[in-house]
Amino acid sequence: MRIVMKFGGTLIDSEDKIKNAIQIIKNHKKKFFNNELVIIVSAVNPVTDILLDACNAIKKKDKVYVKKAVNDINSIHTSLLDKIISKTDLKKQARKTIKCLIKELEMIMEGAVFLGEVTPKLQDYIASFGERLSIVLITFALRDIGIKSEYLTGKEVGILTDSNFSEARPLMDTTKLRVLHKIEPLFKEKIVPIVAGFIASDQNGNTTTLGRGGSDYSATIIAASINAIEVWLWNEFDGMMTADPRIVGKPKVLAELSFSEAVEMSMFGLKYMHPRALEPVIDSRTAVIIKNAYNQKNKGTKIIQNPSRESEKTVKSITSIRNTALIDVSGWGMIGAPGTAAKIFDSLAKNKVNIMMISQSPSESSISMVVRQNDLDKAITTLELNFLGRLIKQINVNDNVSVIAVVGSGMRGIKGVAAKIFTSIAKKNINVIMITQGSSELNLAFIVNDENCEAAVRILHEDFGLAK
Ligand code: ASP
Ligand code: MG
Repeated sequence: MRIVMKFGGTLIDSEDKIKNAIQIIKNHKKKFFNNELVIIVSAVNPVTDILLDACNAIKKKDKVYVKKAVNDINSIHTSLLDKIISKTDLKKQARKTIKCLIKELEMIMEGAVFLGEVTPKLQDYIASFGERLSIVLITFALRDIGIKSEYLTGKEVGILTDSNFSEARPLMDTTKLRVLHKIEPLFKEKIVPIVAGFIASDQNGNTTTLGRGGSDYSATIIAASINAIEVWLWNEFDGMMTADPRIVGKPKVLAELSFSEAVEMSMFGLKYMHPRALEPVIDSRTAVIIKNAYNQKNKGTKIIQNPSRESEKTVKSITSIRNTALIDVSGWGMIGAPGTAAKIFDSLAKNKVNIMMISQSPSESSISMVVRQNDLDKAITTLELNFLGRLIKQINVNDNVSVIAVVGSGMRGIKGVAAKIFTSIAKKNINVIMITQGSSELNLAFIVNDENCEAAVRILHEDFGLAK
């Protein structure tokens, strides 16, 4: 049985947590005799954040911050190392490896801060140090308890991507061949490969990264490459839930989800996974399992191509995203002018504004879109600079809304779901600002003022009987 397991950055950021992760690896290796296990790890939390903040500091030539960042990263890793590795010779080797990496990081940062410049390529290179360091910790911790293991960066394991730095996409055909070629000999020697999540390399050998939270993506890329039957994403909660536990007192854990349902839900609530993470395994028989590393008895959530009948409820989950903003652009100039939407979305995309929801009135005189609050400034500036006074007459903004989405593949072709949703919402006297439903009918999403978010989620959770 081939299994890929991923440990995120918050699962390895203390002595106890690393020991727990090591125990999980040990148990699973033993439990199923002959298990072929690949482990993916993220950077120790919050190392990636520190590295990316340091990139911003470099641009401001802030030498003090950059120096502190290197020191902090050094002490995070050396103090963990001291606690988790007991054998003197192993400790020595691990220390030496970490020291080399820190030295390299320091040199790069010093050079860059001197110039005050970070290219996207350099930023990915700097960001890669988080995972390059964490794989050393985990590998040596395993060796310390007598488990043969070897660490590999994304490049070393064979993940090849395009050169779209910070959001690179894997070139799967080549990747599959390379990864299989690399991993199989390790399996033969009963070695557990510890692979750096998040990082890969392009055709020219430059380090690339797969986007924030990209270790999930690395895990499924590896799983697809070695034909793993399962990918286990370890977390600190029991699985995907019927609603955000911060809003609904006791939501239920969903036992099974289809890939498409999971994709709809991945953007919402607690951060469960990288939005593209399911892509590599969507056409395979690989199951993705989300489990709690601190409550292993709970079966967690299993994401598979064809969930069993039993789990085919009409509505499975009420999900919500807060901190979003609604932008409404309007103008007579937009009516009957083909390409209007394309122009608007294209210039927003060029400025890296991600649009979460779109709706256009049939008269074509207005387009509404939802963006994250962080992107609002950029979005408005882009629209003003490029279109205001010409294509667009007016821009209206509501800067504090929530997206609520009702998700479930059982909604397809069932009449009355929308009526039921909006009756519940009306009962609570909540105003609905915008609505979208894709023709897949998997997901009906709408916008309310953020102050109404919790009440809306709670009443839907109750009225659809999800707590039972
Ligand atoms: N270390 C990366 C990040 O923080 C990747 C990951 O955590 O999955 O975004
Ligand atoms: Mg992380």
